[in-house]
Amino acid sequence: MPKLLCTCNNILNLQDIPCKVQYNFISDVDYDKYHDNINAEELYQEMKIFVECDKCGRLWFFWNGFDEEPLEYLPVSKQI
Ligand SMILES: [Zn+2]
Repeated sequence: MPKLLCTCNNILNLQDIPCKVQYNFISDVDYDKYHDNINAEELYQEMKIFVECDKCGRLWFFWNGFDEEPLEYLPVSKQI
């Protein structure tokens, strides 16, 4: 998914490396499997991704990778 069209019509470019609007995260349960030395690539594979729209603040969560449509989250204080 090279680009994401936000509901506010802002186009989010996901191709930059590193990507300025992309955040990688991992659940506490999944992270608990790691000890001592962490392989960066291995950890990256386990991480989930969300993208923040730099215009409206919406978050787009890719809970199951880029193959599935992301879920949209809108901050209550920033409804546009
Ligand atoms: Zn937006």
